[in-house]
Amino acid sequence: MDNQETEGRIEQTLFLIKPDGLQKSLTGNILTKLSETGMRLVGSKVLVVPRELAEEHYHKLKEEKGEAIFEEVLKYIQGEFHTDRVLALVCEGVGVIEKIRAVAGSTNPEKADPTSIRGKYGRIHSETKVFENVVHTSDSEEGAEREIKLWFRPHELTHTIYPTKEVTEEKTELDWEEN
Ligand code: ADP
Repeated sequence: MDNQETEGRIEQTLFLIKPDGLQKSLTGNILTKLSETGMRLVGSKVLVVPRELAEEHYHKLKEEKGEAIFEEVLKYIQGEFHTDRVLALVCEGVGVIEKIRAVAGSTNPEKADPTSIRGKYGRIHSETKVFENVVHTSDSEEGAEREIKLWFRPHELTHTIYPTKEVTEEKTELDWEEN
């Protein structure tokens, strides 16, 4: 994933393998497709998605698609229909947003290019009607910045991609016990 194009503007994008992608054991296939774009990974983690994060991530969906779909999509991303985790990645590279959108395919898996990730592996659930489309990828530079800042803290990335500020606060956190 390091055979980077060097000419042009470097962009970042947020990419998620959703709970259906993990449950269907598609991680390897999806990462192979991603690496073919020449992207470089700058962050990755697996997490159980809290409701607030899901609501923030899909902040426009209620208005755009209605309350019923919004609630089903929140259940979907939180893992109620599959497994309760998501693999979150930050990918970087020249033109990476469009390149990864192309390999992901259209939102509706029935309309997506059949060779794209969503076209190959997605489905519309017959009862919930949710587009179970396996992956998420940011749609623009502004969208990517908003989403990366939601899902990742600066220290979780290999380098600084947006301006940061120093914050001093006393926090109690877990550490490993000595053997
Ligand atoms: P995208 O994920 O391609 O950016 P949206 O932000 O419009 O698309 O929608 C977020 C997610 O909600 C989609 O990826 C899909 O899982 C689900 N979704 C969107 N629109 C619908 C719909 N009309 N019916 C069912 N599920 C939908």
